[in-house]
Amino acid sequence: MLHPAPLDDADLLTRARSGDDSAVAALYEIYRGPALRLAQVLAGPDEAADLLSDVFVRIVARFRAGAGPSSNFRGYLFTAIRNRHRDLRRRSGHEDPVSHQPWLLEDITPPVDEIPEDFCEDHAAAALATLPDAWRRVLWLIEVEELHVREVADRLGLNPAAVASLAYRAREGLRTAYLEQLVRCVAATSSECGWVRERLGRYVRAGLSTRAACRIASHLEACVVCARSCTDLQRVNSRFHFCRRMASQSAQAPAS
Ligand SMILES: [Zn+2]
Repeated sequence: MLHPAPLDDADLLTRARSGDDSAVAALYEIYRGPALRLAQVLAGPDEAADLLSDVFVRIVARFRAGAGPSSNFRGYLFTAIRNRHRDLRRRSGHEDPVSHQPWLLEDITPPVDEIPEDFCEDHAAAALATLPDAWRRVLWLIEVEELHVREVADRLGLNPAAVASLAYRAREGLRTAYLEQLVRCVAATSSECGWVRERLGRYVRAGLSTRAACRIASHLEACVVCARSCTDLQRVNSRFHFCRRMASQSAQAPAS
């Protein structure tokens, strides 16, 4: 029996926007698992299914109106879940719709992260796993749950200045760790190459002592392989706008 070729999001989204319910059902099947995990993190296990179905009903309504996303359904869905959760929390259960289809009036903000085409989710997950729990926790709350610093401070029992500082170090740590994952793919051919490669992420992020940076700079003048790795890292580093995407690579929120 022949299996149909896998469909990409763009095709499904085009069909969904033109009223094809089977395309909507396919999108639901593809993204239900990760969307439910996000909903569980935001709303807790008891409320997650309700939050997710509420969001899907709204998205279906937008599709039926010929609207909704034309690409990156995952990003759109995750943003919709976060926005809806925040709205419900703000309203504290006092929902008062202004029309019989109020969701059609909503503007679901698309994600602002620019994701480079060569962004690697496995590297991001591996990078995230190397970070201390406190960093992962603050990244999750700020980048994925999109809480304000003050809310994070309340949740963690810290003052806002401490949270801001922690978030800065956590973002920096995640970027460096991501670069280190990239460089790890190329085997070191000498002990000096190995020493350089362990530090190349921090070198590109300007996070090394002057002495270590000088040692690396002189190695890069002599070693073509490390120099090429460094150029690759600098290219990724110059487009580092995808902290949220990286922070969301753990399957669930770090434990409190
Ligand atoms: Zn080298």
